Amino acid sequence: MAEVTIVGGGLAGMTAAINLAKRGHDVVVLEREERPGGSPLYHPSGQGSPLRLDAMRAYIGFDLTPGVEPIREMVEVAGGKAMPIDPSLINSYFFERGPRSTSLDAYLHELAREAGVEVRFATPVVSQEEMAQLPPRVIVATGLHFEGFDALRVPYLTSHHFTWKGTCDPDLNYVHMFHDTYTSDYGYTSAFRGIRYVHLFNRRVPISIAERDRFAEHVAKFDGFEIPEWNSFTFPVPAARPGTPRLFCGNKILAGTLAGAMDPVAFFGLHGALVSGRIAAMAIEDGERAWREFRRCVAAYPYAYGISRMMGLQPRFMNVIAFRTIFRRFGYLKPVHRIMQEGVPGYRCLKL
Ligand SMILES: Cc1cc2nc3c(=O)[nH]c(=O)nc-3n(C[C@H](O)[C@H](O)[C@H](O)COP(=O)(O)OP(=O)(O)OC[C@H]3O[C@@H](n4cnc5c(N)ncnc54)[C@H](O)[C@@H]3O)c2cc1C
Repeated sequence: MAEVTIVGGGLAGMTAAINLAKRGHDVVVLEREERPGGSPLYHPSGQGSPLRLDAMRAYIGFDLTPGVEPIREMVEVAGGKAMPIDPSLINSYFFERGPRSTSLDAYLHELAREAGVEVRFATPVVSQEEMAQLPPRVIVATGLHFEGFDALRVPYLTSHHFTWKGTCDPDLNYVHMFHDTYTSDYGYTSAFRGIRYVHLFNRRVPISIAERDRFAEHVAKFDGFEIPEWNSFTFPVPAARPGTPRLFCGNKILAGTLAGAMDPVAFFGLHGALVSGRIAAMAIEDGERAWREFRRCVAAYPYAYGISRMMGLQPRFMNVIAFRTIFRRFGYLKPVHRIMQEGVPGYRCLKL
């Protein structure tokens, strides 16, 4: 029997797998899909995150450079007014997610294969009973999927999403972020490596068709295209409940979104997934040390949850005013960046 079993072959699961295999463990990853790259519902896609590549390499033990590219253009659209942001000021990178050979997922699976990790595709672990039958040394990193949360009874909020993905000119490279009264969270559009992606979400209440259509009007105005059709779905996101974020759940070790390693304000999860994957690997060898490191990384989460809660409670036009003020008066994302440094696992320890 394998020494360590990892459920979920996404960012956190593969980061843990690579680290453990390099340290001589036998590692088996049980992955729901039939190939690397997660759910075809929303991938392939370009996901963005602030990142310091050198600090991240030092922390997770391998280089991400082949899987990422700098974001070239960023625009904040708050209340229908566009404000350009210099992406280099916050070290922002695109990660290609999904099944294509150019994706970060494919790259991590290749690194894992070279390190000797065995990945069993089309092997979902969905129920409490199946979780209970797993061998003792298990990391669960099932991401933004209900099954993992439900099977381990980890509390979550149900977030509501409208998305569209299609193709575009491969030379386009941009992110536009939209804050407006159509959601208390935000919408964004991205174009990267020929993939165009549109996303509007709300972590608290469903988005109405009228709100979605107002967002589509903004996309038509600022991106210059009409959205032909929408996908709508829900998924679980970490909730501010006692014990969240959590590294341990019974005899299981958690990583990635399931561990709550998703920043509560801006909803970035890539960074936290990579960092918590490394911490989960540490937990296999030394639970006490990993717990201390996890707590250090998420120490400011309660404050970040507070800000997130305020964004949900305010009349939404207050958020628009707040975002306009932040971007206009301070020029760029410095205050948001500051919050993230305090509130995202790993940002703090890597000093982005
Ligand atoms: C549409 C979308 C856009 C996003 N955009 C951004 C962004 O721009 N910036 C950012 O920082 N973050 C973004 N995120 C969040 C980011 O993708 C996640 O935080 C990150 O991928 C979490 O890593 P993870 O390892 O926890 O989960 P994932 O990387 O999603 O990996 C989970 C893996 O587990 C597998 N799995 C699921 N259930 C089971 C099961 N029952 N049994 C076995 N395997 C299972 C899945 O197939 C998948 O391979 C976005 C998320 C989505 C869905």
